[in-house]
Amino acid sequence: MGSQSPHSVAVQTSTSAGVITMICTALVMWLAGVSEHAWMPPVSGLMVAVFSYVMIYRQLGLYLQERLRIIYKTIRRVKGSGSQLNVDLGEDIIEQVNRDVMIWAESQIEEITALRETDTFRKEFIGNLAHELKTPVFNIQGFILTLLEGGMEDVEVSRKFLLKAAKNVDRMSGLLEDLDVITKMEAGNLDIEMVPFDLLEIIRETLDNMENKAKKNDISLAFKGNFAEGKLMVLGDSDKIVQVLTNLIVNSINYGEKGGESQVRCYDADDAILVEVADTGIGIDASHLGRVFERFYRVDKSRSRHAGGSGLGLAIVKHIVEAHGQTANVRSTVGQGSTFSFTLQKA
Ligand code: ADP
Repeated sequence: MGSQSPHSVAVQTSTSAGVITMICTALVMWLAGVSEHAWMPPVSGLMVAVFSYVMIYRQLGLYLQERLRIIYKTIRRVKGSGSQLNVDLGEDIIEQVNRDVMIWAESQIEEITALRETDTFRKEFIGNLAHELKTPVFNIQGFILTLLEGGMEDVEVSRKFLLKAAKNVDRMSGLLEDLDVITKMEAGNLDIEMVPFDLLEIIRETLDNMENKAKKNDISLAFKGNFAEGKLMVLGDSDKIVQVLTNLIVNSINYGEKGGESQVRCYDADDAILVEVADTGIGIDASHLGRVFERFYRVDKSRSRHAGGSGLGLAIVKHIVEAHGQTANVRSTVGQGSTFSFTLQKA
């Protein structure tokens, strides 16, 4: 049986009822020997057909409206469904309902998948966080115990262990700061103020601030670009871009080789400025490149922790750059160095 509408069901049923009435009337008249009033069978058949059509159509309509309202009520209670209950009795209603239920079911599946992903992410995040906090806390515990068990008597030992404890406290507070930033970003509370600012000025300032750290690691810092003179106006939130540059330059130092160089470069790319932070360091194997922007993802775990990394630096970079409507990228060769890049819209 093909698709049927309530209208076609009413037409078929009432036509059958009309024909049966016509035959029965003719039969009764024939048995009763009534030969005049030959108009009676067709007229009674027609009247029954019309009457039953009106009744069936109306009752079917009322019945379907009532039952379908329950289905649509359920769908809308679970999720605001855009489709209104507008039953057209000339259409195949069941097909129409089936379509709406399928759309609803698909949206439910999408929602459940998203919830599952969020749940997995939450579990992973808490696991990673506990792991990150465990190391410095255990270290501090160890240093304090050593001091309490007699180390305190010796000024030199006390100083050494307190310095080590302080380093671990710094690491923990750095992690908590980064965590605060990334939590705000992921909650969608990242207020980006898109205002014109001079990119060259903030690059110079950030490089100056990094100078000491670079010297300690025996790495030289340099800026390369044809914009060295004058201004380079871009659109964005300068404080957040300082954070991006800082994270990238800190990484270029932490993962650079002694005697090497970290360069910040700017290129004109039509409507945008391409900023690159390149180093001559250890590089990243191609198999890790796609994941380095993930939170807590580390290629070289011991080196990262030794350098005081929280494992969140690049995730923060990605969030900030994407909140500017731009993208961040990386290319790298093991043993030769890495180049991280992002774009900014010209003002
Ligand atoms: P971390 O605090 O561990 O540095 P990031 O998110 O900043 O965290 O970086 C993630 C990982 O990517 C690092 O642990 C490191 O393995 C790798 N990485 C980042 N920058 C560089 C770089 N310039 N050279 C080599 N590896 C890098």
